[in-house]
Amino acid sequence: MDDIQLIDKKGKRKDSRGPEDLRPIKIEAGVLDNADGSAYIEWGKNKIIVGVYGPREMHQKHLQRPDKAIVQVSYSMASFSVDERKKPGQGRREHEISKIIAEALERSIISDQYPRTSIDVYIEVLEASAGTRCAGVTAASVAIADAGIPMIGMVASCAAGKINGQVVLDLDKLEDNIGDADLPVGYIPKTEEVVLLQMDGHFTPEEFDKAFVLARGACIQIQELQKEALVKKYSQEPEENGTDDNGENKDDMAEGGVLQ
Ligand code: UDP
Repeated sequence: MDDIQLIDKKGKRKDSRGPEDLRPIKIEAGVLDNADGSAYIEWGKNKIIVGVYGPREMHQKHLQRPDKAIVQVSYSMASFSVDERKKPGQGRREHEISKIIAEALERSIISDQYPRTSIDVYIEVLEASAGTRCAGVTAASVAIADAGIPMIGMVASCAAGKINGQVVLDLDKLEDNIGDADLPVGYIPKTEEVVLLQMDGHFTPEEFDKAFVLARGACIQIQELQKEALVKKYSQEPEENGTDDNGENKDDMAEGGVLQ
């Protein structure tokens, strides 16, 4: 749609970002006591919490793999997460997103150490504003690391897209709704492996290359925030978690894992 101007002549977008700017991102590791690993991410107006359980015995025996753990992902969006109430339960979209995230995460985990087990990843979207699959997989990878599950490297994810014929990074909700194309990328910087790649809309081959390079560069930047979130959690003494010297809650997200 070229009739609605999403980017002005100076390259400023509606939320005053430049074409290659990310929305603000905050990541916090270890936010749930009852999960083996967990993470919370705020990315623009997205708010997502992830809990990881396992590796634990795979109860459905026919799904067990004798040589490795399997990764099961449940991505779900709360009914109240979007302006127009979403029907509860998992529809086709949630199943598709769960599947592609499971495939991406599976590539990052050293799963042959845990035969016949399951690693269960619950991604709960509390507020959604475009790019939830990228934010979800990014937080899930932090939660898996927080669970102490060995990985070849964490997956970071980000999308690039096209608005008013111009390639830009990290579409927000309005841009996603009326923009021309969207390209979510999941990337393991350590191995330089692309583990998630989807495309919605149309890019020319040149635009595709530009969008891909932009998204991959952002993944490298986001990986630093993932690491900072883990360093922040694991450099704290247990009694320090969540409290300051006076025993009062402190703003955990004010330091590590923040891009503003
Ligand atoms: N969305 C919505 N209702 C739905 C599904 C999606 O309002 O039932 C919104 C939500 O803000 C979501 C955005 O549309 O983030 C884009 O959805 P998409 O399927 O492209 O996935 P995402 O970009 O979140 O990975």
